[in-house]
Amino acid sequence: MPASAEFQQRLESRLSAVIRHFGTPFHIYDEKGIKETCAGLSNAFAGIPGFQEYFAVKALPNPAILKIIQGMGFGFDCSSIAELELSRQLGARGEQIMFTSANTSRQEYLAAAADGGCILNLDDVSFVDKVPDMPELICFRYNPGERRTGNSIIGNPVEAKYGVAHDQIVAAYQRAMKRGATRFGLHTMLASNEREYSYMVETARMLLELVKWISGELDIKFEFINIGGGLGIPYRPGESRLDIQSMAKEITAAFDDFRGNNGYAPKMYMESGRYITGPHGILVTSAINRKEIYRTYVGVDACMSALMRPGMYGAYHHITVPGKSGGDEIVDVVGSLCENNDKFAIQRSLPKTEDGDLLLIHDTGAHGIAMGFNYNGKLRPKELLLREDGSVELIRREERLEDYFATLDFEPDRLAAQ
Ligand SMILES: *Cc1c(COP(=O)(O)O)cnc(C)c1O
Repeated sequence: MPASAEFQQRLESRLSAVIRHFGTPFHIYDEKGIKETCAGLSNAFAGIPGFQEYFAVKALPNPAILKIIQGMGFGFDCSSIAELELSRQLGARGEQIMFTSANTSRQEYLAAAADGGCILNLDDVSFVDKVPDMPELICFRYNPGERRTGNSIIGNPVEAKYGVAHDQIVAAYQRAMKRGATRFGLHTMLASNEREYSYMVETARMLLELVKWISGELDIKFEFINIGGGLGIPYRPGESRLDIQSMAKEITAAFDDFRGNNGYAPKMYMESGRYITGPHGILVTSAINRKEIYRTYVGVDACMSALMRPGMYGAYHHITVPGKSGGDEIVDVVGSLCENNDKFAIQRSLPKTEDGDLLLIHDTGAHGIAMGFNYNGKLRPKELLLREDGSVELIRREERLEDYFATLDFEPDRLAAQ
C-alpha cells in the first residue's frame, strides 16, 4: 500500500504552504511514521533478549533521519567510509555500528577500526588475512548457495557476489581465531523487499542451525546472529503488508527452542532499511510539460536523479495527484534525462493533469535520493522533514551547479612526458 492515509493527510493539509516556501521538487519524510515503525519493530521482537536493529544507512543517509532512528535505540549498518563517518558524527561508536562491506579495500578496514571500531562483518574467508588488526569480535556474512532460493531483486544466492560459501564457513572462523578473534557473530542477507514473513523465519532458523554446527566444530559460542535486511513493504495498492507480528512470534519461538536445547541463545540483530523508512517518504514534483505523440507523456520537474528504482528495477511507485482522483487517462510520467528509462510510471492510469499540478510519488523513503546520480548533469533535489509538531524542516538542500563543478576545481597537476 502506498503512503499511509495519516501521512498523506498530514502532508496534504500543509502542502500548499510547503510548496510556496520550498518549491518543488523535494522528498519529504514523516518523522511520526518513522518513529511508529521503529517502535513497532522493537515491540514485536521484545521477546528476544538483546534484539537490536541496525538501520541500513544506505537506504536514507541523512543525519536528521539517522538521528531520529538512533533516538529509537537503533544502531547503524554501514558499508562505506562515508556511512561510517555519518554514523560517527552522530555519536555512534563500537558495537552500535555494524560494517557490512563487499569487495572491501584496506582503507575501509582502517576506517572501520578507527574511532573505537565497530562490528566488522567479513564478506570472504580471504579477508581474514587482509584485516590490518583482527578485532576481538568478528562476524562473517554467509551465502547458503543452492541451500536457499533468493528473491527477484537480490537474485539466486549461487549467483550473488556476497558472503562466504557454506563449505568455507567453519574455516573462516578458524582462521579468524588464529588471528586472535574471541567473540563471534554470524550474518546473512538473502532477500530484498520480501513481504512473505516465513522467508525471514527460515533465514533465522538457518542461521541458528549453522550456529549450532559451527559452535560444535570449533567449540565456540556465538554472541549474535544477524538476519540482514530485506523486509518488504507494499508498493502497490492492494498488496499485503509483511506480517511482522507472526514473523517475530515464530523467530522468538526458534530462539526459545535454541536456548532450551543449548543452554544459551545468541542475540538477534537485523539491518533493515526499506522497512523502517520506505513508506515514510514522498517525492513531490510538479507537472511542467505535457506531450502527446504515440503515447501521452506527463513531464515533471524531477527525474531519475531523485529516484532510480523505476528505471533501474522496473519498480512500481504509486502516484497520486492532490485534489484529483480517478483514472481519466493512461500516461507515462517522465523526467528530463536523455534516457528512455527515465520514467516514474509507464502506462499508468492517472487523473487528467495539466502543467502546474503536483504529483506525489509514494514510498521514496528508502533507496530513493540515495541512489540518485548526476548523469546528464541532472542535480538531486532537496530533502524535507515533516516533524511531529507539523513544522517542516530543510534537511538537505538541493544540489546546485557549483556542486556539479566542484570536482573540476583543482590546482594544475600534470605528469610530464618521459
Ligand atoms: C541494502 C542492505 C540492507 C538493507 O536492505 P533493505 O532491503 O533496505 O532492508 C541491509 N544489509 C545489507 C548488507 C545491505 O546491502
